[in-house]
Amino acid sequence: MRNWMGVIKGMITVGLVITVLGLLFTDRGIVTDAPGGTTDSASAEEPGKGQLEDSSGDVLPTVLAGVEQDTSQGAGTGGSADPDIAGEDEETSLSYINNKDALSERELIERGKVIYLTFDDGPGKYTAELLDILAKYDIKATFFVTGGNEGYFDMIGRAKDEGHTIGIHCYNHDYKKVYASEHAYFADLEKIDEIIFDQTGERAQLVRFPGGSSNISSKFNPGIMTRLTGMVEEKGYRYFDWNVLSGDAGDTKDTEEIIRNMIDGILKKDISVVLQHDLYDYSIAAVEEVILWGLENGYAFLPLSMESPTIHHPIAN
Ligand SMILES: [Zn+2]
Repeated sequence: MRNWMGVIKGMITVGLVITVLGLLFTDRGIVTDAPGGTTDSASAEEPGKGQLEDSSGDVLPTVLAGVEQDTSQGAGTGGSADPDIAGEDEETSLSYINNKDALSERELIERGKVIYLTFDDGPGKYTAELLDILAKYDIKATFFVTGGNEGYFDMIGRAKDEGHTIGIHCYNHDYKKVYASEHAYFADLEKIDEIIFDQTGERAQLVRFPGGSSNISSKFNPGIMTRLTGMVEEKGYRYFDWNVLSGDAGDTKDTEEIIRNMIDGILKKDISVVLQHDLYDYSIAAVEEVILWGLENGYAFLPLSMESPTIHHPIAN
């Protein structure tokens, strides 16, 4: 009996080693890092450089972020979870190199081929369906939530329970109001954080600014983004922009095009922070295919955490 256990354990170990070796020699894809500046209806942004740095301040490889306004209006969904890295003696297969894998977030980052799926403006009508898809593949994602759809606030709790990261987007997605002043911004932030706390029992630590840190929708208040980006970090939050656009915020309603946008963007990055919105069925419909493509091609899907590499746009106001 003991011998058999030893043999099985040995086989699992060998399998794990082969898997890891396979990963090390996997083609990471071409990293062109061509700036992918995009213009949306709300504002034209310059392509931006996203800085990757870890929490200890060591600067990891710099990536270029395609910058686009986050124009969508709406409410948010959330979920929060650290990558569960344990998985000892668990069967590991190439198809499931996600947060259940034996590699830590840092090791995966160094390897490359990491995808952070992020969803803004929920929770909403399609959040439950999205959570079902993520659960099916045991993929953890990040939800930057808003207060727009009160009827779906319970999805914030569900997302958190299922291991996703919940971050703050805003309570009211109205640029004129949220960026009216520093006081207005933080009053709004606290309002959505209160809802997150009610639903999850925890305060959020991650922030995504409405429109991203590069937004120029706030230009009516000169310098507000420069001030706010400093202030949120002083208060102990970390803010995240994105470097891969799905195009679901006004560019297209075509699911196939959203899939192409996501895959094309991911192929250009070692580390992808993908922007989607869980308010749109045509965007949620793209998720499963991107997950399958990612898993088949050796990508790891992780939720953002306080330890994740920073993706910041250049501040334009
Ligand atoms: Zn938004």
